[in-house]
Amino acid sequence: METSIDDVTEDTGAPAGPTVTAADHADAVTDTAVPAAAPAPVATAPASLSPSRAGDFMQCPLLYRFRVIDRLPEKPSEAATRGTLVHAVLERLFDAPAAERTAPRAKSLVPGQWDRLRESRPELGELFTDDPEGERLAQWLSEAERLVERWFTLEDPSRLEPAERELFVEAELDSGLRLRGIIDRVDVAPTGEVRIVDYKTGKAPRPQYAEGALFQMKFYALVVWRLKKVVPRRLQLVYLGSGDVLTYDPVLADLERVERKLLALWEAIRLATETGDWRPRPTKLCGWCDHQAHCPEFGGTPPPYPLPVRAAESGGTEQGRMGPD
Ligand code: SF4
Repeated sequence: METSIDDVTEDTGAPAGPTVTAADHADAVTDTAVPAAAPAPVATAPASLSPSRAGDFMQCPLLYRFRVIDRLPEKPSEAATRGTLVHAVLERLFDAPAAERTAPRAKSLVPGQWDRLRESRPELGELFTDDPEGERLAQWLSEAERLVERWFTLEDPSRLEPAERELFVEAELDSGLRLRGIIDRVDVAPTGEVRIVDYKTGKAPRPQYAEGALFQMKFYALVVWRLKKVVPRRLQLVYLGSGDVLTYDPVLADLERVERKLLALWEAIRLATETGDWRPRPTKLCGWCDHQAHCPEFGGTPPPYPLPVRAAESGGTEQGRMGPD
């Protein structure tokens, strides 16, 4: 999901800090292993991965470091917050009896869900502080309504009875790595077949990028398989921004492949944590990165790395920021 807030945290051993990422929707999972009053960040290899944080590392290791180790704050974005709002509306609509799950009813939920969101995340109030007349807010809300309305052209909620909504899942692999995340919707057919559904408020990717979009879904399928010993029959991405539905029917080999990929990723993260070598990987996505001021690619300096970093030549240690590129 690319336009909403994902606050899944990894078990880094680092103290909790303000983190708002623009990866997914409200995967708000608190890392309870983190002592709230710890004095300083400690760089510890993660014990768990979510699709968003795995995606961060694949996109740019330094971005992962900024989000997971340094816990640098990020400004809430209108697009990400709208994604969170739309997800909340789609979830709440299933509280109503099937016949009442109509587009007008769904749209009517938007203002109330926005109020709830603002109450639970006061920092979102800063999104519209420069909009005293409320024009931009009105436009933003009406765009959220338009996305909600488009859902009805793609699925018919009056014919759906989700087995789960906003389902937190977590499973441990044999290696000890824990995979965790929140699945938007799980449908279970009378035959027992499982469908995992994810809503996106952005547009569907071009076909050549579909594999990347499916990574998150295969991640969830792997977790479900690990938990229930059932390979989901279908993975379904619902793109409200463009009105597309992308589906994929996984087989066991897909999930085994994803598991191998995640283990390799975990090892790479562990290595970077130990060495302090978090390399920036500039792409056009840097335009959406909140951390350019700390990024060497943009003339910035990362915060001091909270771990003695092994010096490459002397074999000794020094308190460093990052290893040499
Ligand atoms: S600006 Fe780009 S290269 Fe730098 S940390 Fe952000 S994503 Fe990575």
